[in-house]
Amino acid sequence: MSSVPIELAAPDITPHRRSATGVDYVHTFDSGKPGPHVLICALTHGNEICGAIVVDRLLRQGLRPVAGTLTFAFNNVQAFARFDTANPFASRFVDEDFNRVWTTDTLDGGRDSVELRRARAIRPFVEAADYLLDIHSMLEPSPPVMICGPLEKGIRFAFEVGVPESIVSDTGHANGTRMRDYMGFGDAASPRNALLVECGQHWERSSERVAWQTTWRFLDRLGVVDRGMAAREIDRAVAPQRLIRVTEAVIASTPAFRFARPFSGLDVIPRRGDIIAWDGEKPVRAPYDNCVLVMPVPNNVKTGLTAVRLGRLEAA
Ligand SMILES: [Zn+2]
Repeated sequence: MSSVPIELAAPDITPHRRSATGVDYVHTFDSGKPGPHVLICALTHGNEICGAIVVDRLLRQGLRPVAGTLTFAFNNVQAFARFDTANPFASRFVDEDFNRVWTTDTLDGGRDSVELRRARAIRPFVEAADYLLDIHSMLEPSPPVMICGPLEKGIRFAFEVGVPESIVSDTGHANGTRMRDYMGFGDAASPRNALLVECGQHWERSSERVAWQTTWRFLDRLGVVDRGMAAREIDRAVAPQRLIRVTEAVIASTPAFRFARPFSGLDVIPRRGDIIAWDGEKPVRAPYDNCVLVMPVPNNVKTGLTAVRLGRLEAA
């Protein structure tokens, strides 16, 4: 994995530190006209730089909303400050995963960490937002995916945004709650809605293009940016979308867990019963036909943690 080429350059975000919001690296622009409050987040994980490139560029271009309110946030800036191309895997977070602390219990609780402090500072913006786009990228090569959560409103919204081609509906992770599932975003009765885009491998050039296209389509869909400006940025030639519903996570229960083949993200196991991996002596078999491997980590399996999630392909 250390041989992954670093095709993207981490942007200098220090010009965006000072902010009228009172919270460093968070910028809010109010159009003065009615409309939703839209939050675009980058660097929820410190080494996922495609989102930072996009937000840096939009801020430098001076993008302003034509309706509603638009907030841009660089989230885990302390982890990002440690980003080093010589060891790019190390800067995902400082103390703990910023994207696993999003419950009121954890945020209101007495525990302290670099990430909790930052999450508490970002929290008012997340709570004020009607719509959230959280821009991520992936450790292992995979086509981009839109993670829309378990609710029908998230699935619908992902189809409305229109990219990327693959939409993954899931319930999140056992080891903590994501920002995209926080409060109203995770409540079927609330009109608030959130999407998390995984743009591709962390440092692949194409991840930047996916982040840029997704962000423009997201903003355009919500009507908060100038239509003509969005039309110039958005590439309309896109493939029809498809939905993958995650049914289960495969946890590596032994240190001897290994994949049957060097799979990459969204590979499909055609037949029920086919072997996906070996957990020690025990085979892990596809539970149904056309089983999709969601974000497998063949080079980074950790005992007790998810090695891959399995999803069922559904027609649009
Ligand atoms: Zn991430």
